[in-house]
Amino acid sequence: MDDLGTPVLDDHLHLDSEHGRGIEAVRDFARSGGTHLLVVNKPSWLLGVEAESGDDFRAVFDTTVDIVERANAILPGRAWAVLGVHPGLVSKLVDDRGYSPAGARDLMQAGIEVAAEYVAEDSGAEGDLAVALKSGRPHYDVSDEVCDASNAVLRRALELGADVGCAVQLHTEATNDLTEVAEWAEDSGLPPERVVKHYAGGELTGVTPSVMSEKDRLEVAAERGEPFLMETDFVDDPDRPGAVLGPKTVPRRVKWMRERGYDEAIRTAHVSTPERVYGLNIRETLSR
Ligand SMILES: [Zn+2]
Repeated sequence: MDDLGTPVLDDHLHLDSEHGRGIEAVRDFARSGGTHLLVVNKPSWLLGVEAESGDDFRAVFDTTVDIVERANAILPGRAWAVLGVHPGLVSKLVDDRGYSPAGARDLMQAGIEVAAEYVAEDSGAEGDLAVALKSGRPHYDVSDEVCDASNAVLRRALELGADVGCAVQLHTEATNDLTEVAEWAEDSGLPPERVVKHYAGGELTGVTPSVMSEKDRLEVAAERGEPFLMETDFVDDPDRPGAVLGPKTVPRRVKWMRERGYDEAIRTAHVSTPERVYGLNIRETLSR
């Protein structure tokens, strides 16, 4: 195993033991020097779950928690689950399944409420397994009604994050300014730094960026000197092999950052920001 002399966290990836590489991807990550993972549940429809109630999302969340437990047996550090409802579901519900935007909103909010139960309660022998919620809004153009419904779902997730005391990862349109969302978080009682924009560029105003681990984006984040996280958004989908970065990418980029003298940025992305955002003590959960 490559020891990079630092904890290495991938802040957002998916694992699918049924259709994808699952635990093999975790082995690749660990062999390359990766230590910690935040595993986000796949969109429900990709797992064949056509939810009609909040409880129907349990099958999706259980699958994710299960693979997190298996990853914990392999990693020198820890894995945790991030649970929620993918914002793209609103279009599946409205366009394909005959839901009104308000009906879709209610179902998606119910799903996130169940996810919040997992974060509040679900813990295994080694402590919490689910540590954050996932929500957001479509990154593509939608009608005003669907846009309003999506923002209502996102705001409910922020409220639940405040209630449970956890971070919220968001999928949003491509932007480097989420000041409005930061204000919504503040209104709900959730500190905006505990809101994470996944698939972010190196620069972002309002909430914490989880930067896609491409060199140009990381360079911007490292030079900027603000809190940030690193991710791959590995989708673990055999039908989309080149769609995203692979599971070895974050460790490889950490090595590259070290060569470039970005030691402070490495500490920021892998120790101090995870603590600030999720309350995770990355060093203490590293045993080697
Ligand atoms: Zn993702």
